[in-house]
Amino acid sequence: MTKALIVGGGIAGPTMAMALQRAGIDSAVYEAYDRPADYTGMFLNTASNGLDALRAIDVHVAEAADGFPMPRMRMWSGTGKPLGEVANGVRLADGTVSVCVKRGLLQKVLREEALERGISVQYGKRLESYQATGQGVVARFADGTTATGDILIGADGIHSRTRQLMNPEAPKPSFTGLVGVGGYSHIAGLAPTIGTQHFVFGKRAFFGYLVRESGEIYWFANLHRPDEPTREELAQISPQEWKRHLLDLFADDMPLINQIIGNSIGEIGAHPVHDMPTSPLWHRGPVVLIGDAVHATSPSAGQGASMAIEDAITLAKCLRDAPGATAAFTSYEELRRNRVEKVVAYSRKLSNSKTAGPVARVFRDMMMPIALKVFASDKAHAWMYTHHIDWDTPISQAA
Ligand SMILES: Cc1cc2nc3c(=O)[nH]c(=O)nc-3n(C[C@H](O)[C@H](O)[C@H](O)COP(=O)(O)OP(=O)(O)OC[C@H]3O[C@@H](n4cnc5c(N)ncnc54)[C@H](O)[C@@H]3O)c2cc1C
Repeated sequence: MTKALIVGGGIAGPTMAMALQRAGIDSAVYEAYDRPADYTGMFLNTASNGLDALRAIDVHVAEAADGFPMPRMRMWSGTGKPLGEVANGVRLADGTVSVCVKRGLLQKVLREEALERGISVQYGKRLESYQATGQGVVARFADGTTATGDILIGADGIHSRTRQLMNPEAPKPSFTGLVGVGGYSHIAGLAPTIGTQHFVFGKRAFFGYLVRESGEIYWFANLHRPDEPTREELAQISPQEWKRHLLDLFADDMPLINQIIGNSIGEIGAHPVHDMPTSPLWHRGPVVLIGDAVHATSPSAGQGASMAIEDAITLAKCLRDAPGATAAFTSYEELRRNRVEKVVAYSRKLSNSKTAGPVARVFRDMMMPIALKVFASDKAHAWMYTHHIDWDTPISQAA
Protein backbone atom coordinates (compact mmCIF):
# COMPACT_ATOMS: atom_id res chain seq x y z
CA MET A 1 0.00 0.00 0.00
CA THR A 2 1.56 3.29 -0.96
CA LYS A 3 -1.13 5.92 -1.23
CA ALA A 4 -4.54 6.58 0.37
CA LEU A 5 -7.00 9.22 -0.80
CA ILE A 6 -8.95 10.65 2.13
CA VAL A 7 -12.19 12.41 1.23
CA GLY A 8 -13.23 14.98 3.84
CA GLY A 9 -11.17 17.31 6.02
CA GLY A 10 -13.42 17.45 9.11
CA ILE A 11 -12.45 15.54 12.24
CA ALA A 12 -11.95 12.00 10.91
CA GLY A 13 -10.01 13.05 7.77
CA PRO A 14 -6.92 14.77 9.24
CA THR A 15 -6.83 12.22 12.09
CA MET A 16 -6.82 9.42 9.53
CA ALA A 17 -3.98 11.03 7.58
CA MET A 18 -1.82 11.43 10.71
CA ALA A 19 -2.51 7.85 11.82
CA LEU A 20 -1.63 6.53 8.35
CA GLN A 21 1.60 8.50 8.39
CA ARG A 22 2.48 6.83 11.67
CA ALA A 23 1.71 3.48 10.02
CA GLY A 24 4.07 4.37 7.17
CA ILE A 25 1.35 4.99 4.56
CA ASP A 26 1.25 8.11 2.44
CA SER A 27 -2.06 9.97 2.03
CA ALA A 28 -3.68 13.25 1.00
CA VAL A 29 -6.86 14.87 2.29
CA TYR A 30 -9.43 16.27 -0.19
CA GLU A 31 -11.93 18.71 1.31
CA ALA A 32 -15.03 20.01 -0.51
CA TYR A 33 -14.90 23.54 0.93
CA ASP A 34 -12.72 25.90 -1.04
CA ARG A 35 -10.95 27.13 2.09
CA PRO A 36 -10.72 26.18 5.76
CA ALA A 37 -14.25 26.65 7.13
CA ASP A 38 -13.80 26.42 10.85
CA TYR A 39 -17.31 27.41 11.80
CA THR A 40 -17.22 27.76 15.56
CA GLY A 41 -20.98 28.15 16.02
CA MET A 42 -21.40 25.03 18.10
CA PHE A 43 -19.42 23.29 20.78
CA LEU A 44 -19.00 19.64 21.57
CA ASN A 45 -17.79 17.15 24.06
CA THR A 46 -14.58 15.33 23.23
CA ALA A 47 -14.83 12.31 25.45
CA SER A 48 -11.96 10.73 27.40
CA ASN A 49 -11.89 7.80 24.93
CA GLY A 50 -11.42 10.18 21.98
CA LEU A 51 -8.64 12.10 23.75
CA ASP A 52 -6.98 8.81 24.67
CA ALA A 53 -7.19 7.53 21.08
CA LEU A 54 -5.47 10.69 19.79
CA ARG A 55 -2.55 10.07 22.12
CA ALA A 56 -1.75 6.96 20.08
CA ILE A 57 -0.59 9.33 17.35
CA ASP A 58 0.79 11.92 19.73
CA VAL A 59 -1.92 14.49 19.15
CA HIS A 60 -3.04 16.53 22.17
CA VAL A 61 -5.97 18.71 21.23
CA ALA A 62 -7.52 19.78 24.49
CA GLU A 63 -5.42 22.85 25.26
CA ALA A 64 -4.63 23.79 21.67
CA ALA A 65 -8.36 23.92 20.88
CA ASP A 66 -9.13 26.02 23.98
CA GLY A 67 -10.82 22.99 25.51
CA PHE A 68 -11.67 22.81 29.19
CA PRO A 69 -12.51 19.84 31.42
CA MET A 70 -16.18 19.03 31.81
CA PRO A 71 -16.38 16.03 34.12
CA ARG A 72 -19.90 16.54 35.52
CA MET A 73 -23.48 17.06 34.34
CA ARG A 74 -26.28 18.36 36.53
CA MET A 75 -29.93 17.77 35.54
CA TRP A 76 -32.86 20.00 36.38
CA SER A 77 -36.57 19.95 35.69
CA GLY A 78 -37.95 23.03 33.95
CA THR A 79 -39.41 24.20 37.24
CA GLY A 80 -35.95 24.27 38.78
CA LYS A 81 -36.16 21.01 40.71
CA PRO A 82 -32.74 19.29 40.89
CA LEU A 83 -32.98 15.85 39.28
CA GLY A 84 -29.46 14.70 40.01
CA GLU A 85 -25.81 14.92 39.08
CA VAL A 86 -23.85 12.42 37.02
CA ALA A 87 -20.33 12.10 35.75
CA ASN A 88 -19.81 13.18 32.15
CA GLY A 89 -17.89 10.08 31.28
CA VAL A 90 -15.27 8.29 33.31
CA ARG A 91 -12.01 9.70 34.66
CA LEU A 92 -9.20 7.62 33.18
CA ALA A 93 -6.37 6.29 35.32
CA ASP A 94 -4.10 9.14 34.14
CA GLY A 95 -6.72 11.74 35.15
CA THR A 96 -8.10 12.40 31.65
CA VAL A 97 -11.71 13.59 31.64
CA SER A 98 -14.00 14.72 28.81
CA VAL A 99 -13.35 18.24 27.55
CA CYS A 100 -15.64 20.79 25.96
CA VAL A 101 -14.37 22.43 22.75
CA LYS A 102 -15.74 24.58 19.98
CA ARG A 103 -16.19 22.18 17.08
CA GLY A 104 -14.51 24.46 14.57
CA LEU A 105 -11.45 24.88 16.78
CA LEU A 106 -11.06 21.12 17.18
CA GLN A 107 -11.21 20.73 13.41
CA LYS A 108 -8.69 23.55 12.94
CA VAL A 109 -6.20 22.12 15.44
CA LEU A 110 -6.35 18.67 13.82
CA ARG A 111 -5.89 20.11 10.34
CA GLU A 112 -3.00 22.36 11.38
CA GLU A 113 -1.30 19.46 13.14
CA ALA A 114 -1.66 17.38 9.97
CA LEU A 115 -0.20 20.22 7.85
CA GLU A 116 2.65 20.60 10.30
CA ARG A 117 3.42 16.90 9.84
CA GLY A 118 3.74 17.43 6.10
CA ILE A 119 0.34 16.04 5.07
CA SER A 120 -1.29 17.51 1.97
CA VAL A 121 -4.77 19.00 2.58
CA GLN A 122 -6.40 20.24 -0.62
CA TYR A 123 -9.47 22.47 -0.75
CA GLY A 124 -12.20 22.86 -3.35
CA LYS A 125 -12.08 19.09 -3.95
CA ARG A 126 -15.67 17.91 -3.75
CA LEU A 127 -15.78 14.21 -4.56
CA GLU A 128 -18.22 13.58 -7.37
CA SER A 129 -17.47 10.00 -8.36
CA TYR A 130 -14.78 7.36 -8.19
CA GLN A 131 -13.75 4.39 -10.22
CA ALA A 132 -12.14 1.19 -8.97
CA THR A 133 -9.52 0.27 -11.54
CA GLY A 134 -8.35 -3.15 -10.41
CA GLN A 135 -5.00 -1.68 -9.33
CA GLY A 136 -6.53 1.00 -7.14
CA VAL A 137 -8.99 3.85 -7.39
CA VAL A 138 -9.40 7.13 -9.26
CA ALA A 139 -11.35 9.92 -7.54
CA ARG A 140 -13.06 12.60 -9.62
CA PHE A 141 -13.78 15.97 -8.12
CA ALA A 142 -16.36 18.60 -9.03
CA ASP A 143 -13.60 20.96 -10.24
CA GLY A 144 -12.77 18.46 -13.00
CA THR A 145 -9.52 17.18 -11.46
CA THR A 146 -8.74 13.59 -10.49
CA ALA A 147 -6.50 11.83 -7.98
CA THR A 148 -5.23 8.28 -8.03
CA GLY A 149 -4.50 6.05 -5.05
CA ASP A 150 -4.50 2.46 -3.83
CA ILE A 151 -7.49 3.02 -1.57
CA LEU A 152 -10.08 5.72 -0.94
CA ILE A 153 -11.27 6.50 2.58
CA GLY A 154 -14.63 8.27 2.82
CA ALA A 155 -14.47 10.65 5.80
CA ASP A 156 -17.05 12.97 4.28
CA GLY A 157 -19.53 13.19 7.11
CA ILE A 158 -23.17 12.32 7.66
CA HIS A 159 -24.33 13.09 4.10
CA SER A 160 -21.36 11.20 2.64
CA ARG A 161 -21.08 11.16 -1.14
CA THR A 162 -18.64 8.25 -0.84
CA ARG A 163 -21.29 6.20 0.97
CA GLN A 164 -23.88 6.95 -1.74
CA LEU A 165 -21.45 6.00 -4.49
CA MET A 166 -20.28 2.85 -2.75
CA ASN A 167 -23.81 1.69 -1.98
CA PRO A 168 -26.69 3.53 -3.67
CA GLU A 169 -29.03 1.44 -1.48
CA ALA A 170 -27.39 2.67 1.74
CA PRO A 171 -29.85 3.94 4.36
CA LYS A 172 -30.15 7.70 4.61
CA PRO A 173 -29.49 9.37 7.95
CA SER A 174 -32.70 9.46 9.96
CA PHE A 175 -34.11 12.57 11.58
CA THR A 176 -34.36 12.21 15.37
CA GLY A 177 -37.25 14.64 15.73
CA LEU A 178 -34.96 17.25 17.28
CA VAL A 179 -33.52 20.52 16.06
CA GLY A 180 -30.33 21.66 17.77
CA VAL A 181 -29.91 25.40 18.31
CA GLY A 182 -27.07 27.07 20.15
CA GLY A 183 -24.76 29.98 20.72
CA TYR A 184 -22.81 32.02 23.24
CA SER A 185 -23.97 34.51 25.83
CA HIS A 186 -22.79 36.64 28.73
CA ILE A 187 -24.54 37.75 31.92
CA ALA A 188 -22.58 40.08 34.20
CA GLY A 189 -22.00 38.49 37.60
CA LEU A 190 -23.22 34.98 36.73
CA ALA A 191 -20.99 32.52 38.61
CA PRO A 192 -18.85 30.14 36.51
CA THR A 193 -19.99 26.50 36.54
CA ILE A 194 -16.46 25.11 36.58
CA GLY A 195 -16.43 21.48 35.47
CA THR A 196 -20.20 21.20 35.34
CA GLN A 197 -22.59 21.46 32.43
CA HIS A 198 -26.24 22.00 33.35
CA PHE A 199 -29.17 20.38 31.54
CA VAL A 200 -32.77 21.41 31.94
CA PHE A 201 -35.72 19.26 30.88
CA GLY A 202 -38.00 22.20 30.11
CA LYS A 203 -41.74 22.06 29.63
CA ARG A 204 -41.52 22.35 25.85
CA ALA A 205 -37.83 21.92 25.03
CA PHE A 206 -34.47 20.83 26.41
CA PHE A 207 -31.75 23.33 27.41
CA GLY A 208 -28.05 23.00 28.22
CA TYR A 209 -25.55 25.58 29.43
CA LEU A 210 -22.22 26.12 31.12
CA VAL A 211 -20.41 29.25 32.26
CA ARG A 212 -16.66 29.54 31.74
CA GLU A 213 -14.29 31.25 34.14
CA SER A 214 -14.21 34.21 31.75
CA GLY A 215 -17.98 34.53 32.08
CA GLU A 216 -18.64 33.30 28.55
CA ILE A 217 -21.77 31.15 28.51
CA TYR A 218 -22.08 28.23 26.09
CA TRP A 219 -25.72 27.24 25.52
CA PHE A 220 -27.83 25.01 23.34
CA ALA A 221 -31.45 23.96 23.06
CA ASN A 222 -33.04 20.87 21.57
CA LEU A 223 -36.47 21.57 20.14
CA HIS A 224 -39.02 18.95 19.26
CA ARG A 225 -40.01 19.08 15.61
CA PRO A 226 -42.07 16.25 14.05
CA ASP A 227 -41.30 17.14 10.43
CA GLU A 228 -37.71 17.48 9.26
CA PRO A 229 -36.62 21.04 8.41
CA THR A 230 -33.97 21.60 5.76
CA ARG A 231 -30.65 23.21 6.68
CA GLU A 232 -31.52 26.04 4.28
CA GLU A 233 -34.82 26.70 6.07
CA LEU A 234 -33.00 26.89 9.41
CA ALA A 235 -30.20 29.07 7.99
CA GLN A 236 -32.75 31.71 6.99
CA ILE A 237 -33.86 32.25 10.59
CA SER A 238 -32.09 35.29 12.03
CA PRO A 239 -30.65 35.35 15.59
CA GLN A 240 -33.44 37.80 16.57
CA GLU A 241 -36.11 35.41 15.30
CA TRP A 242 -34.51 32.52 17.14
CA LYS A 243 -34.39 34.56 20.33
CA ARG A 244 -38.09 35.43 20.07
CA HIS A 245 -39.04 31.83 19.38
CA LEU A 246 -36.88 30.40 22.18
CA LEU A 247 -37.98 33.01 24.72
CA ASP A 248 -41.53 31.85 24.04
CA LEU A 249 -40.69 28.17 24.28
CA PHE A 250 -38.91 28.52 27.62
CA ALA A 251 -41.32 31.11 29.09
CA ASP A 252 -42.62 28.62 31.71
CA ASP A 253 -39.22 27.28 32.73
CA MET A 254 -36.56 28.53 35.14
CA PRO A 255 -35.96 32.23 34.36
CA LEU A 256 -32.18 31.81 33.96
CA ILE A 257 -32.77 30.09 30.60
CA ASN A 258 -34.42 33.14 29.13
CA GLN A 259 -31.80 35.44 30.61
CA ILE A 260 -29.14 33.41 28.82
CA ILE A 261 -31.04 33.39 25.52
CA GLY A 262 -31.92 37.07 25.80
CA ASN A 263 -28.25 37.96 26.29
CA SER A 264 -26.98 35.70 23.52
CA ILE A 265 -24.27 37.38 21.47
CA GLY A 266 -23.71 37.02 17.71
CA GLU A 267 -24.67 34.06 15.59
CA ILE A 268 -27.18 31.43 16.68
CA GLY A 269 -26.54 28.12 14.91
CA ALA A 270 -29.29 25.61 14.11
CA HIS A 271 -29.32 22.17 12.53
CA PRO A 272 -31.62 19.15 12.26
CA VAL A 273 -30.32 16.31 14.44
CA HIS A 274 -29.79 13.04 12.56
CA ASP A 275 -28.32 9.69 13.27
CA MET A 276 -27.67 6.51 11.32
CA PRO A 277 -28.15 3.40 13.45
CA THR A 278 -26.53 0.98 11.04
CA SER A 279 -24.93 0.85 7.63
CA PRO A 280 -24.89 -2.52 5.84
CA LEU A 281 -21.71 -1.85 3.88
CA TRP A 282 -18.61 -0.40 5.49
CA HIS A 283 -16.30 -1.11 2.57
CA ARG A 284 -16.38 -2.29 -0.99
CA GLY A 285 -13.36 -2.93 -3.22
CA PRO A 286 -10.72 -0.26 -2.55
CA VAL A 287 -13.15 2.04 -0.69
CA VAL A 288 -13.91 2.23 3.04
CA LEU A 289 -15.93 4.59 5.24
CA ILE A 290 -15.08 6.15 8.62
CA GLY A 291 -16.72 8.56 11.09
CA ASP A 292 -20.16 10.04 10.50
CA ALA A 293 -20.05 8.74 6.92
CA VAL A 294 -20.73 5.24 8.23
CA HIS A 295 -22.35 5.60 11.68
CA ALA A 296 -23.49 9.09 12.55
CA THR A 297 -24.64 9.46 16.13
CA SER A 298 -26.93 12.15 17.51
CA PRO A 299 -25.01 14.59 19.73
CA SER A 300 -26.74 13.55 22.97
CA ALA A 301 -24.05 11.06 24.05
CA GLY A 302 -21.26 13.49 23.13
CA GLN A 303 -19.39 10.76 21.23
CA GLY A 304 -19.53 11.64 17.49
CA ALA A 305 -16.07 13.20 17.30
CA SER A 306 -14.56 10.53 19.54
CA MET A 307 -16.02 7.68 17.46
CA ALA A 308 -14.63 9.29 14.28
CA ILE A 309 -11.19 9.56 15.91
CA GLU A 310 -11.27 5.95 17.16
CA ASP A 311 -12.26 4.74 13.67
CA ALA A 312 -9.31 6.53 12.09
CA ILE A 313 -6.74 5.16 14.52
CA THR A 314 -8.16 1.63 14.29
CA LEU A 315 -8.28 1.61 10.49
CA ALA A 316 -4.67 2.84 10.29
CA LYS A 317 -3.59 0.00 12.60
CA CYS A 318 -5.46 -2.51 10.45
CA LEU A 319 -3.84 -1.18 7.27
CA ARG A 320 -0.45 -1.39 8.97
CA ASP A 321 -0.90 -4.98 10.16
CA ALA A 322 -3.23 -6.83 7.76
CA PRO A 323 -2.06 -8.56 4.58
CA GLY A 324 -3.73 -6.21 2.09
CA ALA A 325 -6.53 -3.65 2.00
CA THR A 326 -9.49 -6.05 1.97
CA ALA A 327 -8.25 -7.93 5.03
CA ALA A 328 -7.58 -4.60 6.74
CA PHE A 329 -11.08 -3.28 6.00
CA THR A 330 -12.64 -6.53 7.26
CA SER A 331 -10.69 -6.37 10.53
CA TYR A 332 -11.55 -2.70 10.92
CA GLU A 333 -15.27 -3.39 10.57
CA GLU A 334 -15.03 -6.33 12.99
CA LEU A 335 -13.28 -4.16 15.56
CA ARG A 336 -15.64 -1.21 15.22
CA ARG A 337 -19.17 -2.15 14.16
CA ASN A 338 -20.60 -3.41 17.48
CA ARG A 339 -19.12 -0.59 19.48
CA VAL A 340 -20.32 2.26 17.29
CA GLU A 341 -23.80 0.82 16.83
CA LYS A 342 -24.12 0.51 20.59
CA VAL A 343 -23.09 4.16 21.02
CA VAL A 344 -25.54 5.37 18.34
CA ALA A 345 -28.38 3.43 20.00
CA TYR A 346 -27.49 4.78 23.44
CA SER A 347 -27.38 8.35 22.12
CA ARG A 348 -30.77 7.92 20.40
CA LYS A 349 -32.24 6.81 23.73
CA LEU A 350 -30.93 9.97 25.37
CA SER A 351 -32.34 12.09 22.52
CA ASN A 352 -35.76 10.47 22.98
CA SER A 353 -35.82 11.43 26.65
CA LYS A 354 -35.59 15.08 25.57
CA THR A 355 -38.89 14.94 23.71
CA ALA A 356 -41.19 13.60 26.42
CA GLY A 357 -44.87 14.60 26.35
CA PRO A 358 -46.63 15.99 29.45
CA VAL A 359 -47.41 12.61 31.07
CA ALA A 360 -44.01 11.12 30.35
CA ARG A 361 -42.46 14.33 31.65
CA VAL A 362 -44.02 14.02 35.10
CA PHE A 363 -42.97 10.38 35.28
CA ARG A 364 -39.46 11.21 34.10
CA ASP A 365 -39.02 13.98 36.66
CA MET A 366 -40.10 11.58 39.41
CA MET A 367 -37.97 8.67 38.29
CA MET A 368 -34.84 10.40 37.08
CA PRO A 369 -33.19 10.92 40.48
CA ILE A 370 -33.49 7.16 41.10
CA ALA A 371 -32.55 6.17 37.55
CA LEU A 372 -29.46 8.36 37.62
CA LYS A 373 -28.22 6.65 40.76
CA VAL A 374 -28.68 3.19 39.28
CA PHE A 375 -27.76 3.57 35.62
CA ALA A 376 -25.50 6.56 35.40
CA SER A 377 -22.71 5.23 37.54
CA ASP A 378 -19.12 5.22 36.29
CA LYS A 379 -19.38 1.45 35.98
CA ALA A 380 -22.43 1.53 33.72
CA HIS A 381 -20.65 3.67 31.13
CA ALA A 382 -17.10 2.45 31.45
CA TRP A 383 -17.48 0.48 28.18
CA MET A 384 -17.88 3.76 26.32
CA TYR A 385 -15.29 5.98 27.99
CA THR A 386 -12.43 3.66 28.90
CA HIS A 387 -12.04 2.09 25.46
CA HIS A 388 -8.31 2.11 24.72
CA ILE A 389 -6.54 1.51 21.42
CA ASP A 390 -3.10 0.10 21.98
CA TRP A 391 -1.19 1.34 18.94
CA ASP A 392 1.83 -0.91 19.44
CA THR A 393 0.00 -4.23 19.74
CA PRO A 394 -0.58 -5.79 16.31
CA ILE A 395 -4.27 -6.29 15.47
CA SER A 396 -3.95 -10.08 15.40
CA GLN A 397 -3.03 -10.00 19.10
CA ALA A 398 -5.46 -7.28 20.19
CA ALA A 399 -8.53 -8.27 22.16
C1 LIG B 1 -24.29 20.73 16.75
C2 LIG B 1 -23.53 19.47 16.87
C3 LIG B 1 -23.14 19.09 18.15
C4 LIG B 1 -22.39 17.95 18.27
N1 LIG B 1 -21.98 17.59 19.52
C5 LIG B 1 -21.10 16.58 19.65
C6 LIG B 1 -20.52 16.26 20.91
O1 LIG B 1 -20.84 16.84 21.97
N2 LIG B 1 -19.55 15.32 20.94
C7 LIG B 1 -19.15 14.67 19.81
O2 LIG B 1 -18.22 13.86 19.90
N3 LIG B 1 -19.72 14.91 18.62
C8 LIG B 1 -20.67 15.86 18.49
N4 LIG B 1 -21.20 16.13 17.29
C9 LIG B 1 -20.88 15.28 16.15
C10 LIG B 1 -19.52 15.55 15.56
O3 LIG B 1 -19.39 16.89 15.18
C11 LIG B 1 -19.36 14.59 14.39
O4 LIG B 1 -19.65 13.30 14.83
C12 LIG B 1 -17.96 14.64 13.86
O5 LIG B 1 -17.72 15.92 13.33
C13 LIG B 1 -17.76 13.58 12.77
O6 LIG B 1 -16.56 13.78 12.13
P1 LIG B 1 -16.38 13.42 10.60
O7 LIG B 1 -15.00 13.83 10.26
O8 LIG B 1 -16.82 12.02 10.40
O9 LIG B 1 -17.42 14.32 9.83
P2 LIG B 1 -17.41 15.90 9.66
O10 LIG B 1 -16.78 16.55 10.84
O11 LIG B 1 -18.80 16.27 9.31
O12 LIG B 1 -16.45 16.15 8.41
C14 LIG B 1 -16.81 15.80 7.09
C15 LIG B 1 -16.02 16.67 6.14
O13 LIG B 1 -16.20 16.17 4.81
C16 LIG B 1 -16.41 17.26 3.93
N5 LIG B 1 -17.16 16.77 2.76
C17 LIG B 1 -18.47 16.50 2.65
N6 LIG B 1 -18.78 16.04 1.42
C18 LIG B 1 -17.63 16.01 0.73
C19 LIG B 1 -17.28 15.64 -0.61
N7 LIG B 1 -18.21 15.18 -1.48
N8 LIG B 1 -16.00 15.74 -1.00
C20 LIG B 1 -15.03 16.19 -0.15
N9 LIG B 1 -15.30 16.57 1.13
C21 LIG B 1 -16.58 16.49 1.56
C22 LIG B 1 -17.18 18.26 4.77
O14 LIG B 1 -17.07 19.57 4.24
C23 LIG B 1 -16.48 18.11 6.13
O15 LIG B 1 -15.37 18.95 6.25
C24 LIG B 1 -22.01 17.21 17.11
C25 LIG B 1 -22.44 17.60 15.85
C26 LIG B 1 -23.20 18.70 15.72
C27 LIG B 1 -23.66 19.13 14.35
